[in-house]
Amino acid sequence: MKIQCVHAHPDDFEFVAAGTFTRFLSEKNATGLATICTDGAAGHHLHTQEHTVQVRRREQEQALALGKVGCEWLTLPDGRMPREGCIEVGRLLLAALWKSLRAFQPDYLFCPPLPCDNLVGIHVDHVAVAEAIRKIAYLVNVPHAFTPEYPELETTTPQACLTPVILQTHDSYSAGANAFDLAIDVEDQFELTAEMSWVHQSQIAEWLPWVGRHRMQVPATLTDWKSMVRQRFLMRNREMGVDSNRIFEFFSVTAWGEVPSIDKILQDFPGIAQNLCPLRSLETRLRRWRAEL
Ligand SMILES: [Zn+2]
Repeated sequence: MKIQCVHAHPDDFEFVAAGTFTRFLSEKNATGLATICTDGAAGHHLHTQEHTVQVRRREQEQALALGKVGCEWLTLPDGRMPREGCIEVGRLLLAALWKSLRAFQPDYLFCPPLPCDNLVGIHVDHVAVAEAIRKIAYLVNVPHAFTPEYPELETTTPQACLTPVILQTHDSYSAGANAFDLAIDVEDQFELTAEMSWVHQSQIAEWLPWVGRHRMQVPATLTDWKSMVRQRFLMRNREMGVDSNRIFEFFSVTAWGEVPSIDKILQDFPGIAQNLCPLRSLETRLRRWRAEL
């Protein structure tokens, strides 16, 4: 099985899907890939953009190596990476995502949510990635969709390409609009995922406390950080209406790509906290989408 997370920034993955990926890798023998769609250039208050890009790239690659997850920096057909804060959902981004998805062919694809409540906040890059994934989903199995951008992929014997099941992650920028079908118990993966996010020192010890997001203090040690990030995840539980001191990651199933059966989801996903998940309503929705009612 192959699973891919497409997200906007270096460090997004660690806070929304790293525990679930760890379970997939160890319990399902899956291969994981994280695709980062911006260079992270804006994510520091002291460094130049050029220096920030270098630091964040190194941190992201080290963090993903800890989790044994592959790392892909999304590159546009013109050779550039989208700049943080400036992703344009257009031909070049769609072409790059098309190429990435066709190359890796994940069974399950995770991306940010696309909030429909216009009162909640957003991060412009997260919404851009979500919108782009939604727009590219059908074209994944269209072999000549972007061959003008990638002439080397032009072929007269096109191979059919798997369209993945696409799931949305939680997004702290849109707190209040998040929902879930699946809560994955990642308590036993917490130590590793906290160590992965600890690698992002330029963010958790420098930028995020400065910018004031999450009302963060500066963690002095890894032990401090584990305590802080646990509290943050327990706040996420409360937002999602989950009364538990265990750590969960939350996902919603879309019909953007392949629509799975409920049995397929239950068979493939490790660690589903079935007592917390609205599986009956998910089953009804999936059956309706599959015209099985
Ligand atoms: Zn982000």
